[in-house]
Amino acid sequence: MIAIINGRFILPDAKGDFAIVTDKAILCEGERIAAIVDAQEAAALPAESIIDAGGGYVAPGFLNVHVHGCDGMDTMDDDAQALPRMARLQAKTGVTGFLPTTMTCAWTEVETAFAHIRQCMQKQPEGARVLGAHMEGPFISPAKKGAQAEENIRQADFSLVEPWQDVVRIITLAPEELPDPAFVASCEQAGITVSIGHTAADYDTVMDAIEKHGVHHITHLYNAMTPFHHRNPGVVGAALDSASNCEIIADNVHAHPAAQRLLYRAKGGRHIILITDSLRACGIGDGPSELGGQAVFVKGELATLADGTIAGSVATMNRCVAHFWENTGAPLPLVIEMVTKTPAQELGLYEELGSLAVGKRADIVIFDDAVGIQRTIIGGKSLD
Ligand SMILES: [Zn+2]
Repeated sequence: MIAIINGRFILPDAKGDFAIVTDKAILCEGERIAAIVDAQEAAALPAESIIDAGGGYVAPGFLNVHVHGCDGMDTMDDDAQALPRMARLQAKTGVTGFLPTTMTCAWTEVETAFAHIRQCMQKQPEGARVLGAHMEGPFISPAKKGAQAEENIRQADFSLVEPWQDVVRIITLAPEELPDPAFVASCEQAGITVSIGHTAADYDTVMDAIEKHGVHHITHLYNAMTPFHHRNPGVVGAALDSASNCEIIADNVHAHPAAQRLLYRAKGGRHIILITDSLRACGIGDGPSELGGQAVFVKGELATLADGTIAGSVATMNRCVAHFWENTGAPLPLVIEMVTKTPAQELGLYEELGSLAVGKRADIVIFDDAVGIQRTIIGGKSLD
């Protein structure tokens, strides 16, 4: 038994909305949250079972549904150490569950990545839980490929995905490239979320996908999609004009603070999922790195190629939370929902994780007013 005391606890209220509560204690037994009690009830427990949050925030562990790499490693590395290293670094940034994200590579390489992910799902490494894969491409638009390799783009075909239904949780695709909308239904039946991204679709095509075919997820809003124009609202317009869940890279590099604010206001604070979309250069500090054979230089939260082009994100989840909180002025509990409850519901895992509630996994993060991570607890065990 451990008891977390002296925190500002971010807990669901009677309606399920997150709110800050003090004078409580969270009791964990084994891997689960056993009880949430009044603070004085924990006072009698032996000192060695007490975790003093020191007045910090105590929240459910963050979920990161779009992350390619960090700590020098990438999901596409055919290296059994890649995901365990990523899992440890993610945990240090407050993440307790993540979807390693594949790139538009040769299909055999994508399958190799899935095999590594499956292995980690069966035998979890120490650190953030590997919850499955986010498959970014290869069913995307060549016109909006971004950093994805065009020669590996191909037509959506469910028979490719079928052997990996237990692994793949999200597929990013371009709806205008879909040969048959039945692909979406096959994915939904298999519990896979289809997400609109890397797409040159117009507003109507995206609204059709959302309203007629039940697509409800948008990959990194604003990036690699048709922008908003007042006579041609594009993917961005459809994303903001619907109840779809929008990912956003809240690093202030990929989306301007004002663009983050517009998303927050258009969505009334709901249907938003913060992601890092980070690359292997994340978490290794300033200096040289590499992306697909090209030299990358990292300084602070900016990673650039030799010619100054942005080379992807080096954001960490706790920094994204801090940025979005500051940029929007949103109440902190609502920002925390964007990295816990909303992604957990999207993945169909909210019964199990994504909030601090009795019976759920004891995946908990403690952080300060600047969202500096003080402690990450996964399955009731505190990570050093
Ligand atoms: Zn990505």
